[in-house]
Amino acid sequence: MAHLPAFVHTVSMRPMATLFLCLVVPGGCVQAPPPAWVTERQNAGTESTVIPVPKWQEIGRSVEGRPIRYRKVGSGHRCVLWIGGVHGNETEGVVATCELPSAFLAEKGLASRATLHLVEDMNPDGRFARTRGNSRGVDLNRDFPASNRRNGRGLSQPESRVVHDLVLKLQPDLVIVAHSWRDRCFINFDGPARRAAYIFHGHSRYPVVPSTNIAVTPGSMGSWCGWDMAIPILTLEWRRGTPPGLAWTETKEAILAVTRGE
Ligand SMILES: [Zn+2]
Repeated sequence: MAHLPAFVHTVSMRPMATLFLCLVVPGGCVQAPPPAWVTERQNAGTESTVIPVPKWQEIGRSVEGRPIRYRKVGSGHRCVLWIGGVHGNETEGVVATCELPSAFLAEKGLASRATLHLVEDMNPDGRFARTRGNSRGVDLNRDFPASNRRNGRGLSQPESRVVHDLVLKLQPDLVIVAHSWRDRCFINFDGPARRAAYIFHGHSRYPVVPSTNIAVTPGSMGSWCGWDMAIPILTLEWRRGTPPGLAWTETKEAILAVTRGE
């Protein structure tokens, strides 16, 4: 796991307050003013231990200058990267992204087995404006330097460059990217992630849909990461419009299972 870039800004977040803010504030976590302190409980046998929770850190900025925030929990060898949002009009995952660190830490032994890296949302401008693309109208999920690109070299936007560079530095064992689909839910995979997709299915009943079964996505993160970099990547497609709390409860166990790497 390589060294991360120097961060220039830190903020913190309290899970329950964050959950509330995610539900009531347009734009979810990105626009929520973070509370001033953080503690979190981890159950260890009959004792409940208060442990510090790593803070959200800024690893880059969007075209309009909004922070792209990153957070790491756990210290285990297995490296998993969660991308909480790509398309700004797909906000079903805001609760999942807020609650995942707590759920990860609450599962006994997981933090010593795996390290979970989270990018809150790679498209904060799109989230703010509720648009699929970023503020220049670029679909960030077509801006990766995948070999199936039809034109250009990709990485034309600062948001995609931040995530691209993070993947190169981390070389994760698994990437999970949060999206939503207009009329159904499923778990999509690219590259060597078939087994992870079926583990996800086993804990959620979400159907497994290989990328070969859906429209070609030149320059997508899945194409670059999964097929060109041979890094397993799951694209989690919640049904569009699913309440964020329900989206989380439907897939919580599946997300934790693939993070464990059963
Ligand atoms: Zn999407």
